[in-house]
Amino acid sequence: MNFDFVLAHGKILDGCGNPWFWGDLAIQQGRIVEIAPPGTLRGRQVIDADGRFVAPGFIDVHTHSDLSLLVNRRAESAVRQGVTTHVIGNCGMSPAPIDEAQLAEMRQYWGRISDQPEVAWNWRTFDEYLRALQSGGLAINVASLAGHAALRMTVMGLDDRAPTLSELDRMKELLSGAMEAGAFGLSTGLVYPPGCFASTEEIIALCQVVARYHGLYASHIRGERETILEAVAEAIRIGREAGVPVQISHNAPKFGAPCGATANLRLVEEARARGQDVTVDNDVHTDLAPALADGLPQHVQERPAAELAALLQDPAAWRAAKSRVRRQIREEIVSDRRPAFGPAGLLKHGQWHRITLLHASNSPEVVGKTIEALARERGQEPFDVYFDLIVANGHDADAIFDYIDEANIRLLLQHPAVMICSDGDALAPYGFLNDPPPYSPCSYGEFPGVLERYVRDQPVLTLQEAIRKMTSFPAQRFGLWDRGTLRPGARADVVVFDLNRIHDRATNLYPHTYPFENYPHDYPEGIDYVWVNGVLVVDGRSAQHTGHLPGRVLRHRASTPT
Ligand SMILES: [Zn+2]
Repeated sequence: MNFDFVLAHGKILDGCGNPWFWGDLAIQQGRIVEIAPPGTLRGRQVIDADGRFVAPGFIDVHTHSDLSLLVNRRAESAVRQGVTTHVIGNCGMSPAPIDEAQLAEMRQYWGRISDQPEVAWNWRTFDEYLRALQSGGLAINVASLAGHAALRMTVMGLDDRAPTLSELDRMKELLSGAMEAGAFGLSTGLVYPPGCFASTEEIIALCQVVARYHGLYASHIRGERETILEAVAEAIRIGREAGVPVQISHNAPKFGAPCGATANLRLVEEARARGQDVTVDNDVHTDLAPALADGLPQHVQERPAAELAALLQDPAAWRAAKSRVRRQIREEIVSDRRPAFGPAGLLKHGQWHRITLLHASNSPEVVGKTIEALARERGQEPFDVYFDLIVANGHDADAIFDYIDEANIRLLLQHPAVMICSDGDALAPYGFLNDPPPYSPCSYGEFPGVLERYVRDQPVLTLQEAIRKMTSFPAQRFGLWDRGTLRPGARADVVVFDLNRIHDRATNLYPHTYPFENYPHDYPEGIDYVWVNGVLVVDGRSAQHTGHLPGRVLRHRASTPT
């Protein structure tokens, strides 16, 4: 037999958590067709793995690539790190379903990328969106969740109230439509509008629809700081009462949480011991780079830049040396116990040394400095520096918030019920997706970073366990039964990597050094070959993306209700 591809002399990691073994692996017509002793298989193309590891392509269970994949279908930053499948539609945000009346609101929700020519917004239903995604081809496979925010926005805009019975019915109907089109379940983002306006009962009602289709519930829970334990308990309750499996998204406690990861993992373990299917994902970066203004209370940050500046300047109070409005906002931030945006916890607790300016359109001189350093330099209160920067730059200033304790990341990595996600998106170091370059190290280096830092250099988990958390475990979670393992018959999503050479180059890790030379948009080293559905997408011989787009939009199997 002369196969399409033979990968010879590899150390094969099957993805199930077993130690590697020496072998050859043959790929034919999109599938793995044979695994045999080393040096025994013949193929039209033989690639000598030469002792490198051969593993299933990585499955990234939590991404926000819904629109970026339309802009760049080569999925560069994903496939270069060995990722062959993205789960999208997370944190309540999916670009479908949507109707005409709410389209403008939806576009605003997604920001600048909405206006790119490739993002045609020519879909309304979930099925139409999936078709739009597939029609131009994709380098990687995609599985999508239906976003609660999209359902709610379509039916009731961004209203801060409970839905009426008929509105709830309409949301259920839209969700059924999405599930029938192949959504894998429902996602929520309970700290963002409009998700934060929804009661637990509303989500249970929607998850009952998901249960009929045997989908799952994935949640960015209602606060990952002060309220993290209540929020984990809420997610578990929703799963229990609706009868759906639960996936708790990026579940590291954020700065200001009353406990470490052990406490939330205990709730997960207790639920599992009671017979409830609850799992977790997490990424291994300690920081995030949102707009500086995102640290403000929601009702303040939503204002347009001019209004924001006027509010924070408050000239009348300004003359009285201390701004009344500033003091009010500051008190609101410091006393905040609401299920708020994670990074704001750094403001609340005065962790100004952990906030580093990344970009400020009107104050370029502050870039690379922490708010603490600026306060010292200017002889000002850090809060005033913070407000002044927002007055000067409006929404056009970003900062790196270093808000997660790495010890919690290690705890989560070691727990058997936690899989690895990037919480990033498919980016490219060219074109719109790099203009301006986003600070998103997870989008470029999540999976190699785990292998380099947490398996090879300071091991906290074994290689086979790390690979399990990137492959068969996420495949099982989403019911992708023909992916995530290397065995005859499985789809040929395959990665070849060299653990000795593996190097995450998207590593301007904390503390950040300025200038941001090693800006996190460099591809990693050591991920040599990647096949998607049996087609070579990253070719180690040229170290290039081949330009092939063999990815598929995956549809959840149980598309008829029971
Ligand atoms: Zn999220």
